[in-house]
Amino acid sequence: MLRPGDGGVPGDLELSGDLIHSDPDFETPAMYDLVVIGGGSGGLHLATLAARVGAKVALIDKRPPGEKGWLAAWLPSKGLVQAARLVRQIRGAGEFGIHVEPPRVDLAAVLNRLRSVSQASAADRSDEALAARGIDVFHGTAAFEAYDTVLLNGTGRIEGQRFVIATGSRPAPPQIPGLSEAGSLDDASLWSLTQVPESLTVIGAGPIGMEFAQVFARLGSKVTVLTDEDRVLPREDPEISGHVACMLTGEGITIKQRAAIEKIEQRGDQKVCIYNDGDTGERAEVSSAEILCASARLANVEHLNLEAVGVHADPEHGIEVNELLQTHAVRVFAIGDVLQRHQYTHAAEAEAEVAFQNAVLRRRRKIDYTSLPWATFLDPEVATVGSAEAQAKADDLEHHVFRVNYADIDSARIDGRPEGFAKVVASPSGKILGATILGVQASLVLQQLVLAMDAGLGLGELAETTQIYPTYGQVIRELAGQFQATRQRGFMATALRFFYGFQPRTAAVDGASSRTPDAPHGSADDASAASHSTGPAHGHGH
Ligand SMILES: Cc1cc2nc3c(=O)[nH]c(=O)nc-3n(C[C@H](O)[C@H](O)[C@H](O)COP(=O)(O)OP(=O)(O)OC[C@H]3O[C@@H](n4cnc5c(N)ncnc54)[C@H](O)[C@@H]3O)c2cc1C
Repeated sequence: MLRPGDGGVPGDLELSGDLIHSDPDFETPAMYDLVVIGGGSGGLHLATLAARVGAKVALIDKRPPGEKGWLAAWLPSKGLVQAARLVRQIRGAGEFGIHVEPPRVDLAAVLNRLRSVSQASAADRSDEALAARGIDVFHGTAAFEAYDTVLLNGTGRIEGQRFVIATGSRPAPPQIPGLSEAGSLDDASLWSLTQVPESLTVIGAGPIGMEFAQVFARLGSKVTVLTDEDRVLPREDPEISGHVACMLTGEGITIKQRAAIEKIEQRGDQKVCIYNDGDTGERAEVSSAEILCASARLANVEHLNLEAVGVHADPEHGIEVNELLQTHAVRVFAIGDVLQRHQYTHAAEAEAEVAFQNAVLRRRRKIDYTSLPWATFLDPEVATVGSAEAQAKADDLEHHVFRVNYADIDSARIDGRPEGFAKVVASPSGKILGATILGVQASLVLQQLVLAMDAGLGLGELAETTQIYPTYGQVIRELAGQFQATRQRGFMATALRFFYGFQPRTAAVDGASSRTPDAPHGSADDASAASHSTGPAHGHGH
């Protein structure tokens, strides 16, 4: 068991600012070294890390014991993405000379399979599995009674040295007149569908909304997306948003941007969204059998009695923490969706690692999101890390942008998936500032750049790494190759001319020699594919 003052365990954290219950030397006769509230992605990871080093850990989750439902929406949602990808592959088989009947989707069977997948994953997180790891699991809702005590279901007391809140978030229905009367689905309730709705209006064009829009369109719904933003996936590079909108429109999805929904009416078996079309300035409407709300999420901070311990929080903004993920009550930390920062499983886990260092090992590790990647599981995927091109420009950072089109990658040609592009923003020395990829296996390809960022490696080092051919690793080879080309045309060409009298060819000659005449920008030998911050970026993927 780890206690302050034990060998190798630094003392309590010191925080500046308006903190309450900040007597760092006060020791409670606590039963637990760590009490984790919320047993989802972040909470489970943290509890496991703490138990592994011998800390006495309590994990409290409001789900009833032995619940055999969905783990969390992310898992079945990825199963739906896979089912929809299969539908596309089957429909496109003719392109490969394989002739098959059009697919028939049995949604109940699709969801049954996903239930089994969820249950298989849930087994690893059962009470028995957690107990075997040395974690005491409690079922019920937790509310703070004092800085060192929570009440379970209003009665049982659980005392702890440190607390970590990991209660996640929930879908928030938009405040639209008529919505509650007409009824709508969200990522928590859509799993009760027994058949694919003949038509579906998705409200919200963030990652969850766009993933479901594509899934249901492929499964057979006529899908309309309504968003009040001026582009889809607003967190992404605008070029990505434009390509994704084009791609989904090409699949038959109607996307209405700048659409302000006024009200919703039920007419017969149809739900009608009446909205103001920001493009035309006119009133318009769209009818559908179902509406799926995916516009906002709220942090689960109510019922925790956070006021009692001085933790600042509200459902819209989440729990306020410092860089150590510590709340205004120094013994209470928070991680995951409840922070309303990066709503991803791996972000919750990364935060769990920091909370483990600070709450259990009593170190002072700051959270750093610089190389936190994220992906939207469209088909093909979108994956991003770090500063976008626009951000580098806004920050006035000297940078180059290297890009490659999937159409130039042999794997993409072989797989018949030429749509998309990859773009990396790098400093003149090759340090990776950020990258964004739209294309098959984008999340996997991006991971090489993430590893490089974490390890302090740049495009120069990546250029020295051999990528297996033919894989989508060629995307990295091309990007890193472009960086090398700019260097070789600079210092190295000058040196070779000086010492050996080499006469470097011009970029235009190189480009012509290495690419077919109609190939788009972005092959490894095309140094012109690198654009400096002061110049325009190069052409679009398609
Ligand atoms: C449709 C959908 C698709 C997604 N897809 C992805 C994806 O592809 N990749 C990705 O990285 N992320 C994805 N996410 C996001 C991901 O699910 C979350 O970011 C992640 O689960 C957050 O982890 P968490 O620990 O903060 O919260 P959660 O995993 O939500 O866990 C919170 C836990 O707290 C418990 N709880 C809540 N209130 C209390 C209380 N008062 N007392 C006790 N227990 C309580 C809940 O029962 C729950 O078990 C997706 C989310 C959705 C909705």
